[in-house]
Amino acid sequence: MKNISFFKSIILLILATNFLSAAEPFKNGVVVSVSQPGSDAGLAILKSGGNAVDAAIATAFALAVTHPAAGNIGGGGFMVVHPPAGKGEPTVFEYREMAPKATFETIYKKNDGMFTHKVSGVPGTVRGMALAHQRFGSKPWASLILPAIELADKGFPVSKQLANSLNGLLSTSKEFAELQRVFKPTGQKNVWQAGDILVQKELGKTLERIAKYGPDEFYLGETADLINNEMKSGKGLISKEDLANYQARERKPIRIDYKGYSIYGPPSPSSGTITLGLMLNMIEPTNIAKMGRWSPETLHLLIETMKHAFSERARHIGDQGFVDIPESLLKKEFARELAAKLDSKKAIPSMEIAKEIPISKESDDTTHFSVVDGQGMAVSNTYTLEQSYGSKVMVKGAGFLLNNEMLDFNWFPGETTTSGRVGTAPNLIKPGKKMISSQTPVIVAKDGVPHIVTGSPGSRTIINTVFNIIVNIIDFQMDAQKAVDAARLHHQWFPDKAYFEEANNPMHESAMKKLRDMGHNITTRRQGDAHTILIDLKTKLLHPGLDHRIEGGLAGY
Ligand code: GLU
Repeated sequence: MKNISFFKSIILLILATNFLSAAEPFKNGVVVSVSQPGSDAGLAILKSGGNAVDAAIATAFALAVTHPAAGNIGGGGFMVVHPPAGKGEPTVFEYREMAPKATFETIYKKNDGMFTHKVSGVPGTVRGMALAHQRFGSKPWASLILPAIELADKGFPVSKQLANSLNGLLSTSKEFAELQRVFKPTGQKNVWQAGDILVQKELGKTLERIAKYGPDEFYLGETADLINNEMKSGKGLISKEDLANYQARERKPIRIDYKGYSIYGPPSPSSGTITLGLMLNMIEPTNIAKMGRWSPETLHLLIETMKHAFSERARHIGDQGFVDIPESLLKKEFARELAAKLDSKKAIPSMEIAKEIPISKESDDTTHFSVVDGQGMAVSNTYTLEQSYGSKVMVKGAGFLLNNEMLDFNWFPGETTTSGRVGTAPNLIKPGKKMISSQTPVIVAKDGVPHIVTGSPGSRTIINTVFNIIVNIIDFQMDAQKAVDAARLHHQWFPDKAYFEEANNPMHESAMKKLRDMGHNITTRRQGDAHTILIDLKTKLLHPGLDHRIEGGLAGY
């Protein structure tokens, strides 16, 4: 038996080694995203002399066309920008969706669905892109939307992954007539196949208006009218006043200092950077490189760290405009005290960490992309419709989907359950408030020079995906591709379960046994989609780490 396991491990290792072959580095600029046409749109802007922010805006609009499950103009997210070394401070553009004015704490009832007009927050993407453009853009706004307009208007060949995704969507969303009409397979067939052309004329027109009249068109013009009509037709909550009042904000990023590196990411309403910072501060004093990446000791430490940090996340984090988030969460002493509570010999059950149990429904469908230009400016952007294809409500006549981001609020005040519902105060619904997010686009810098650009989809797993990647690169010296490919680990306090992507790989058999003996409940599932760039600090070459877990489009020169 032992020999068979050994043999299996060797084969898996050979397969893995082939899979891990890294792409050649680039000199002048690179875009990594979930979709090839999305990355190509950014590259075209870089090649025409645009900077990383110009390219990121082009990619964001293009993904709204080519990756409709999460790319969007009807959702929201976060963008982190690190200017070239010596040319200014890193900054964050926060364009998270906002609760409409008509909402209140107990607006949602137990039997309210997840795919309705009522669960959309006021979209932030268009204002967010415009704010980033106003601050850093070097190319005309309209020219950055042009690639997306062409993709929508002329169409583009769908990939196998997109064909499967659309087929799945169409077979499970029969009641959404407008979505069915817009995503109807071409020709006589009733299924999508790789290579079929997806044309989205109405989306093309909407993008044309946004290109021509600027972001106000979306919030005050014809598109705002179309959203308003859609809301009225389906008992939605977003009013014209909500759209007019929506604001994206430029924010000072949170900076985490870890082993000589500075990690910049968004503040609240994202919980990502705070939780990531707490975890990194907890493990910092330990020399995990010496313990080995896949040793049961390292895996145990990481799982316990995640579990404890996520309980703090649930307790304290909500929109900073509405709640006070203790500054101590990011203090090294606090992290050290929390780390001192870990038991190196056994798993501490989640129930013992706190009695109040959080967790509301989140899903796995956001998208992250990274861009670096030839001047060394870096952009890390994560944005989302919340669930795959958001609320599935397609704005009639405008050709785009609205988010169902209101699901990220705690719906039932005071009601927390072991199955995962959270009712804690910081994230209760209030008009104008932005819901907690796990999105964690980050840029890691060394002495003011951008070094790693990363982020991921995957609701709460996002934070741990980024944690895994940073540890892989900083502590274990992996290159970008290896760090992205390496098996990921996740624990989010509740449910009391650890997820390890290679839990069933014979290579990890003895570590898994040891962890189970320590009291861990370990299972397996795919985690995240983290399109990453590593900038070599000496050569300045740009090394892409494309994530092949879903698909992936690399474009550089
Ligand atoms: N809506 C989630 C958040 O902002 C992300 C959902 C996902 O990644 O699938 O945290």
